[in-house]
Amino acid sequence: MTETRHVKVLILGAGPTGLSAALYAARAELAPVVLTGMQLGGQAALTDVIENYPGFPEGVGGAQLGELFQKQAERFGAKVEYDLATEVDFSQRPYKVVADNGAYSADTLIIATGADPVHLNIPGEYEMTGRGVSYCATCDGWFFKDKKVVVVGGGDSAFEEGLFLTRYASSVTLVHRREEFRASAILQKRAQEHPKFNFILNTVVTEVEQGEKVTSLKLKNVVSGEESQFETDGLFIFIGHTPNTQMFKGKLAMSELGYIKVNDKMETGVAGVYAAGEAADPTFKQVITSAGMGAAAAIQATRHLEALEAESARG
Ligand code: NAP
Repeated sequence: MTETRHVKVLILGAGPTGLSAALYAARAELAPVVLTGMQLGGQAALTDVIENYPGFPEGVGGAQLGELFQKQAERFGAKVEYDLATEVDFSQRPYKVVADNGAYSADTLIIATGADPVHLNIPGEYEMTGRGVSYCATCDGWFFKDKKVVVVGGGDSAFEEGLFLTRYASSVTLVHRREEFRASAILQKRAQEHPKFNFILNTVVTEVEQGEKVTSLKLKNVVSGEESQFETDGLFIFIGHTPNTQMFKGKLAMSELGYIKVNDKMETGVAGVYAAGEAADPTFKQVITSAGMGAAAAIQATRHLEALEAESARG
């Protein structure tokens, strides 16, 4: 049987949220352990360049920023484990967490499990993922050198990733279901001025033609109802994210969309359990806000542990 490892602060997730929490908990000499989950560095690590994290006037690579976060947390004693938590038990303290490679008991837990891309749920999308359908331009853009790609979405992600794809692709066509965009003005301007960037508006993708590789999509104009075929070598989908919180269903209070409910101290309803970053944030979803929430959760966990210690010293 695997031994259970006891820690004062266990952090689930190693994106900006988890690694910032680790930095703060490590500097409070709590020797936090971070379980990375599936993606070291989180979603930020899949981003080519991050231009809005302060301190990097020229921008910083997403993966590079993740490495810097990790190095800084480790310098103060945080331990990063390449492991995925699969089960939690909040019925008694210390809390129990089962992961793929071991079991933990934790005095406090910081949930920084982030979010995953939303799927269109159209025929052919699932079957053609990895054969031309992608959710990550930084990961897959290189495969589309001198090829035509379609990007779906009207938010910052669609524009930012679409602009990144212009490095490789011969053309990038952004398909959006209405005429207005959510993306920030600066990204919209860059895309509109880019010679490789095109737009198809009021339109949805209804099907990905199946075959060896993506060759064409079915489109539908939502105003006229007109259907058409569009030839493309790739389909990149950026239509938002869902929080990775399934493990906590029925154990922590959540919104309808699955975001863990927290108060302004990152506290969930369970004492000593905090949630931060995109697992708990339906609103801001920025590297800086996630990092800030991670730090706040760790500060609160530190205070909680101090209070518990003072209580047990009083007997
Ligand atoms: P988002 O802002 O929620 O935008 C999602 C887009 O996808 C919307 O335009 C939405 O259309 C469209 N959409 C949603 N479901 C769809 C469906 N089933 N079919 C077709 N289109 C669909 O998501 P995001 O772009 O991933 O950004 C998430 C958050 O991260 C935002 O707060 C954003 O500011 C932030 N972010 C920031 C940066 C940056 O600052 N550099 C970069 C990336 C992301 P409607 O507009 O019609 O709803």
